[in-house]
Amino acid sequence: MSLISDIVTSDLYTQQLKKLERVSQILSLENDVIESLSQPERVIQVKVNLKGNDGRVKTFIGWRSQHNSALGPYKGGVRFSPNVTQTEVMALSMMMTWKNSLLGLPYGGGKGGIRVDPKSLHRDELERLSRGYVKAIYNYIGSDIDIPAPDLNTDPQIMAWFLDEYIKVSGKVDFATFTGKPVEIGGLSVREYSTGLGLATITKVATEKILDGIEGKRIIIQGFGNVGYYAAKFLTEMGGKVIGVSDSKGGIITENGIDPEKVLELKKNGEPISSYEGKKVTNEQLLTWDCDILIPAAVENVINKTNASQVKAKIIVEGANGPLTADADDILRRNNVTVIPDILANSGGVVGSYVEWANNKMGDIVEDEEAKKLIITRMEKAFNNMYQEHEKKFSEYDFRTSAMAIAIERVVRASKLRGLM
Ligand code: GLU
Repeated sequence: MSLISDIVTSDLYTQQLKKLERVSQILSLENDVIESLSQPERVIQVKVNLKGNDGRVKTFIGWRSQHNSALGPYKGGVRFSPNVTQTEVMALSMMMTWKNSLLGLPYGGGKGGIRVDPKSLHRDELERLSRGYVKAIYNYIGSDIDIPAPDLNTDPQIMAWFLDEYIKVSGKVDFATFTGKPVEIGGLSVREYSTGLGLATITKVATEKILDGIEGKRIIIQGFGNVGYYAAKFLTEMGGKVIGVSDSKGGIITENGIDPEKVLELKKNGEPISSYEGKKVTNEQLLTWDCDILIPAAVENVINKTNASQVKAKIIVEGANGPLTADADDILRRNNVTVIPDILANSGGVVGSYVEWANNKMGDIVEDEEAKKLIITRMEKAFNNMYQEHEKKFSEYDFRTSAMAIAIERVVRASKLRGLM
């Protein structure tokens, strides 16, 4: 594993720039505006030295990218991953800007990451690493400045360590600085499943418009982490039929429908998903298997120019951030496959975070049921607004174009009003 930050542009960033450029041209934005939107306002790189349990020093690098604050404080998760790079974090922070804008949240976009394989650390080492990261960036975050949250391989416990360290080093007892916290310290129980709930809600309303509803629709989900599992659970409850699931090692197809609870049980026991009854498939086969709805909820760029033309689903709902490349978008549009873009489909997580943040600021007065309703309503509203704009102005393009156009226009308007552009 290289410890040196990458200087080449990661593929995700290239893909995001391509998507930004395409939409900006449709909106006839000036070149200087496009140039400005393509750069983050600030990227902080930090080094965290960790005294390992074996007595040796381990060095880790991490980043916080603050892409745009025209609409409010930066907001977005922090990922722990051995593959994360500076430009990947930059790309993800840009996507957070569009996501927060599209959902009408009072936030700009940010994202953080530490280049680490969390499985290689003991729990107390992970705690020291988490605390070290906050110690290095605490001057640049805060509930009205930049509000981190969980992302890949980070969870409520890590948010609790982040918050505790933040209070210690800054002296500010401000619980709204982080979201996705444990319920005991200002978190919402809804936050744990809000991305999956939002994804299922958007899938349901989209199928009502595009197919004839969710009932009996054959669904395949790639990835069975927090997003994949809860999406499977809620979609099954809504009447959909999940016929395929996978993890990084492969998956299974079962036409009779899969019980998400049983798959979760397997995973908890450390068994691979492929040990569930059904036909064993590779992730490649799973993505191009016959179904109505395909939900890539694992990693980025999995549908690209090599496999996009073989996709048989009628609708793709992007559970992960950036699972489709710009080339795949073009091919799928030509083949009449509808794509519900990530910035809409997986935004339930940050909407849950927004409710938690607002609740902390107001003195914790929102009940769980109310929070759940708020998330569902906000997601449905965002879909319907995007759909109307699409019909009115962008019907010759895809939903990604319509969603990004709404988001970018809001950011540009705010920037111009504030005199930032
Ligand atoms: N990491 C999630 C995302 O990519 C949630 C971010 C947040 O809650 O701030 O949308």
